[in-house]
Amino acid sequence: NRRLCLVLGDQLSFDLASLNGLDAQRDAVLLVEVMEEARHVPHHPQKIVLIFSAMRHFAQALKQQGFCVHYVTLDDPLNSGSVPGELLRWQSQLQSEEVHLTECGDWRLEHSLRECGLPLQWHSDTRFLCSRDEFSSWAKDKKQLRMEFFYREMRRKSGLLMNIDGTPAGGNWNFDAENRKALPKSVVAPYPARFSADAITQDVLELVRAQFANHYGSVDVFDYPVTHADAQSLWDYFLDFGLAAFGDYQDAMACDEPFLFHARISAALNIGLLDVRQLCGDVESAYLSGRIKLNAAEGFIRQLIGWREYVRGVYWLKMPDYAGGNVFGNSRPLPEFYWTGKTQMNCMRQAIGQSLEYAYAHHIQRLMVTGNFALLAGIAPAEICEWYLAIYMDAFDWVELPNTLGMVMHADGGYLGSKPYCASGQYINRMSDYCRTCVYKVSESTADNACPFNALYWHFIMRHSELLRGNHRMGLTYKNLDRLAESKREALWQRGEMLLAKLDAGESL
Ligand code: SF4
Repeated sequence: NRRLCLVLGDQLSFDLASLNGLDAQRDAVLLVEVMEEARHVPHHPQKIVLIFSAMRHFAQALKQQGFCVHYVTLDDPLNSGSVPGELLRWQSQLQSEEVHLTECGDWRLEHSLRECGLPLQWHSDTRFLCSRDEFSSWAKDKKQLRMEFFYREMRRKSGLLMNIDGTPAGGNWNFDAENRKALPKSVVAPYPARFSADAITQDVLELVRAQFANHYGSVDVFDYPVTHADAQSLWDYFLDFGLAAFGDYQDAMACDEPFLFHARISAALNIGLLDVRQLCGDVESAYLSGRIKLNAAEGFIRQLIGWREYVRGVYWLKMPDYAGGNVFGNSRPLPEFYWTGKTQMNCMRQAIGQSLEYAYAHHIQRLMVTGNFALLAGIAPAEICEWYLAIYMDAFDWVELPNTLGMVMHADGGYLGSKPYCASGQYINRMSDYCRTCVYKVSESTADNACPFNALYWHFIMRHSELLRGNHRMGLTYKNLDRLAESKREALWQRGEMLLAKLDAGESL
């Protein structure tokens, strides 16, 4: 039978399950650039450039391998504007007898394809270690899921950092406690690897500048890899210059240092330019050959086979209801400064500013700065989720939604993580140099120039006391609250109220 294989923009892997077994003479591959996907949230223009350019390069590589590839550009006059629309059009035009595709990364898109009226042959996304079914079996009968236990399963399954007798290398599963160092002044981060835009990328840049000028985010510079070879170079660069210090400083933040020792491979990995098994194997080899310490290797591998696979599992287990989670009943709109970076809070200005400039911020900036602020300020989960999905180059719904709604906002009531990641300005001060040059004073909590995170933190703790006091991991926090003098609690509450009222009035902080 003549097959048509649809390949989506985040499925650019040569070993994609649905590409397996295609006959180059008889079958066809379809890739489509569509407005519905580019606009359903206002994606950062660099993210659109990345995906379209990587798709065009992938199509070219498939053609060079002899495949018959049909590629629909965004500005093709016959483009129907949606993935199901294009699939229907091409299936009919080519009279394909079978349509093959790999599971999507977005429930919304997968649902619309399943409803499109064509009989589809779905393939499991084998680029992940843990299939959707395997995760469901693991989660079955568990009231609360914990990443740590899932991660141990994945370590056993993959054999990564495992001793022959089935115990973890170094005697511990997790060395996170060693991965929380602030950045000393004497330590200098490597210069970031950059990739120049070739003719294909230049064309896409022109298209994106013309079509998405109203989306937030800069597209003045685009230096991200769009081919498998360049993604591999970015990875090699990290192995040589970033990995050894990655563990120690993975939670650190510093002014005007957008990347530090982070690999910045998440976008390339999430669209299929890199392979998770290869990355983990390389990191394990670096440890075994003595080039890096165990905490760096374990910390990196945990992000990939632990957290990344875990959030994907939760997403497919719980969608579509998961997206509606809002356990705190938040309704505050997202402040405008998330889209502009115009705030006096230096930590927020740094994290948002680099997100707009590079479509990138690392996990602690996302979790403990912009995410923490949204949690403390009671932002509606759907609004902050949309922001993360739009602004970050690596954000796809399966990874963004559980990370934001579950981990950042605790809006799923603790299904994904056992406690909210709420913190005052003290945490940001400990992990960064942001506070040193901020107009606000991190040591103050109720004064006029006090760090907004401080009063908002206690306001959050007080206003959700009923929900959170019983959580044993919050016990110390509530003990500290109870120790405060009544007058101090009142002053914190009043300042919190004043800051929230400013947000409600559309003012920046
Ligand atoms: Fe952020 Fe507060 Fe520090 Fe300013 S003082 S950088 S607002 S944590």
